[in-house]
Amino acid sequence: MNIIGPFMAGCRALAASLPNRCLLCHQQVAAPGSGICLTCLQTCLYRTPVCLGCGRKLTILARYCGGCLTTRPLPVIAPASYHSLLGPLIPRIKYQAQFAAMPPLVTALVQQVNALHAAEVIPIPQVLIPVPLHPRRLRQRGFNQAWLIARMLGQQLQLPVADGVLQRVVATLPQTGMDGRARRRNLRGAFRVMDKFPYQRIALVDDVVTTGTTVDEIARTLAPWTPDIQVWCLARAEAPGV
Ligand SMILES: [Zn+2]
Ligand SMILES: [Zn+2]
Repeated sequence: MNIIGPFMAGCRALAASLPNRCLLCHQQVAAPGSGICLTCLQTCLYRTPVCLGCGRKLTILARYCGGCLTTRPLPVIAPASYHSLLGPLIPRIKYQAQFAAMPPLVTALVQQVNALHAAEVIPIPQVLIPVPLHPRRLRQRGFNQAWLIARMLGQQLQLPVADGVLQRVVATLPQTGMDGRARRRNLRGAFRVMDKFPYQRIALVDDVVTTGTTVDEIARTLAPWTPDIQVWCLARAEAPGV
């Protein structure tokens, strides 16, 4: 798949969309292109450690809360809740090519990853794998937001981004409004691993994780190849009831 065209289009849109005002409070930001001022960012980012399984607040930095220790769900690392004020900014990345929230959130995610790694809660992956779009969707949109985020993370953490090892082979229906079962059915078999997959430790990268159905389906697809999968995203929704 030719990714250079969409990538260049993404970079141009990125450069053109970075304002020098905070997207939330509209105050001037000190560093042009940072998108969210420090005050708003501090208000929105997690202020306590959270369970990587369900998003529940924790008193100490740990991988899981008591409940998730038994079920061990896919660990999701995010710097903020999707239900914070940041939530509405994230869909704007993909639907309006409004990228200004990306740089400060990527930096916050890097800090989160480094803190969790320093506390030996997570390993550093060998490679970052952006959640792929179906080629048709990629042509329509012109860029894959997960790929842009992965590239930025890779630059800051000196990690390679593997594009093309995982492909989306089914153009699934939009998931909004579907219940959990319908979402899982919709995504069943949607991803395919290309023949050589030499990684044992990976991080899937997406813009946001809400129900987790997409990343769960990818993890199911990758399970025969890689035992250690984590998910990195800019914001996550907490599990229901948390
Ligand atoms: Zn602000
Ligand atoms: Zn939990």
